[in-house]
Amino acid sequence: MKFAVISRGDETSNALMQKIKNYLLEFNLSYDSTEPDIVITVGGDGTLLYAFHQYTHRLNDTSFVGVHTGHLGFYADWKPEEVERLVIHIAKTPFKIVEYPLLEVIVRHNNSAKSERYLALNECSVKSVVGSLVMDLEIKGELFETFRGDGLCISTPSGSTAYNKALGGAILHPSLASIQISEMASINNRVYRTIGSPLVLPQHHTCLLKPLNDVDFHITIDHLSMVEKSVKSIQCRVAEEKIRFARFRPFPFWKRVKESFING
Ligand code: NAP
Ligand code: MN
Repeated sequence: MKFAVISRGDETSNALMQKIKNYLLEFNLSYDSTEPDIVITVGGDGTLLYAFHQYTHRLNDTSFVGVHTGHLGFYADWKPEEVERLVIHIAKTPFKIVEYPLLEVIVRHNNSAKSERYLALNECSVKSVVGSLVMDLEIKGELFETFRGDGLCISTPSGSTAYNKALGGAILHPSLASIQISEMASINNRVYRTIGSPLVLPQHHTCLLKPLNDVDFHITIDHLSMVEKSVKSIQCRVAEEKIRFARFRPFPFWKRVKESFING
């Protein structure tokens, strides 16, 4: 089996990365950062997001597992003290795989046939660079509302505990292949009206954001951020692809939610 290890880059994470690498080499696994069967991240959830984006071209062949060197993460759910156990699991057992849904984002531009396609593990957020975001929101080809406000966040179930949660979105179990649209400070008065509640869309229900004016937009895909000019539309739906996590022991999602947000 081929493995890769990705560290957040701080001293503690680098040392742990080296330890994991040495252990796995001793078990006769081969280090291959180009075509790994398993990617072990050391750091936080942000490190796993980074690793995911390094391997989006081979999601069918790569599984992920995360070790946290700070607080408990949603993706990085192994403790540093547990790495010996983790390494033995990786080396000795054919591991179980749990798949989580992803978000597909397609950005199209005016006067151009080219479009960009992205996969997000957490979410895509859209804001206007200057002034309020003004966009028509279509669901399944029908105009749903004209949104005016700070922005919109479209998240995956596993990303629902991140930015989405801060926006008052619901926490969704990752077994629900769905995306959630949450608002950032929508303007609601006698003239402007939005739904005001987060919406959860099932697979194949595409949502389309269409700007009403030609301004620059600030779009994020997970930790990545870009400014897009001349945007015609931003299309979001549940992706065909999924992310695979290597599961060596049960650690149910609701237990992770409780231990992260209520008490450990
Ligand atoms: P960051 O600023 O370090 O991330 C913010 C926090 O979100 C960190 O504590 C991070 O954990 C945590 N996080 C990431 N994914 C999560 C998940 N699925 N569930 C629960 N918590 C999660 O930046 P980053 O590490 O590169 O992460 C990027 C993410 O930050 C974005 O995808 C977005 O979700 C989130 N974000 C949140 C807000 C907000 O809450 N107001 C605003 C902007 C962005 P670690 O410390 O373990 O990395
Ligand atoms: Mn982080």
